[in-house]
Amino acid sequence: PLVLGIETSCDETGVGLVRGCTLLGEDVASSVEQHARFGGVVPEVASRAHLEAMVPTVRRALDKAGAAPSDVDAVAVTAGPGLAGALLVGVSAAKAYAMALDVPLYGVNHLVGHVAVDQLEHGPLPKPAVALLVSGGHTSLLLVEDLATRVRSLGDTVDDAAGEAYDKVARLLGLPYPGGPPIDRAAREGDPGAIRFPRGKWGDGTYDFSFSGLKTAVARWVEDAGRAGEDLPVSDIAAGFQESVVDVLTRKAVDACVDNGVEHLVISGGVAANSRLRALAEERCAEAGVELRVPRPKLCTDNGAMIGALGAEVVAAGLPPSRLDLATDTSLPVTQPLAP
Ligand code: ATP
Ligand code: MG
Ligand code: FE
Repeated sequence: PLVLGIETSCDETGVGLVRGCTLLGEDVASSVEQHARFGGVVPEVASRAHLEAMVPTVRRALDKAGAAPSDVDAVAVTAGPGLAGALLVGVSAAKAYAMALDVPLYGVNHLVGHVAVDQLEHGPLPKPAVALLVSGGHTSLLLVEDLATRVRSLGDTVDDAAGEAYDKVARLLGLPYPGGPPIDRAAREGDPGAIRFPRGKWGDGTYDFSFSGLKTAVARWVEDAGRAGEDLPVSDIAAGFQESVVDVLTRKAVDACVDNGVEHLVISGGVAANSRLRALAEERCAEAGVELRVPRPKLCTDNGAMIGALGAEVVAAGLPPSRLDLATDTSLPVTQPLAP
């Protein structure tokens, strides 16, 4: 079956056409530039942008897939988690498409979508797998027994998400929003060993994370340099900060695999686009005999293909479609791949 996936949880309007583990076509419209000067996503601006971008983005995705609307067999949409108004635009559009095309509708979980998208690049996900989900709003270690029906949480951040830490630290360093890509670039010019920042919850025996202490440590560095009238060593701070983040992420992810006897690790979500995270994860997985799967950077950040990918899994599992009064859930838990 051909699944039309629709994603609008944050500031990307994403549409993807997926059949099984094959991505036939996709398109993404982003309102990120409209939010840049505010240093974060402005919900009302995002909702309006989704409304304007929705129909053209669906058209472009269909064109790229060489498909007609009548070829669509099911519609999958992000029901949560995300911004209330933004989710509502996607869910409303998905209901309209499902009704007009007379096909079933499936409200699915954005976070599980981040994991499911890997199947479009590397084929069916071995069961079970551990997933490290690192995005703007979430940082979780998951035990994925079945993408459509059984996802368990092993650990979570107790404060900031990894992407949020990148965005906040970028702001402290005078780098643009979103902060991940400019820190990734600046860090390449810096020495990751020049400044040793704290590793939150290192070796505490849990799979939880903490990044707020790290952010405070960077803030103190910036203040001290300002007081002393010194130039800020931006590249060294970026490199030291990044090393602290990816050191803990990769260590705990590999431990979760080894402790649970799991041989496959997926890393996904926007921060999985990070070059240093990808390199260190590869190194540590190789040492531990764990097979690493990381989708290409474009599929790590928000897109519609990920929702199509999870939709295809849900359809294949034979789960019942959502009703046409499907509600959005801004805090849908990651343990629910299909919205209730
Ligand atoms: P969630 O999925 O939790 O709802 P989100 O959808 O907003 O949040 P994503 O789009 O998956 O999050 O990821 C966005 C985050 O990824 C931002 O915080 C951004 O800074 C970060 N990011 C993007 N590219 C990189 C990179 N190269 N290095 C580090 N972080 C990055
Ligand atoms: Mg975004
Ligand atoms: Fe996301």
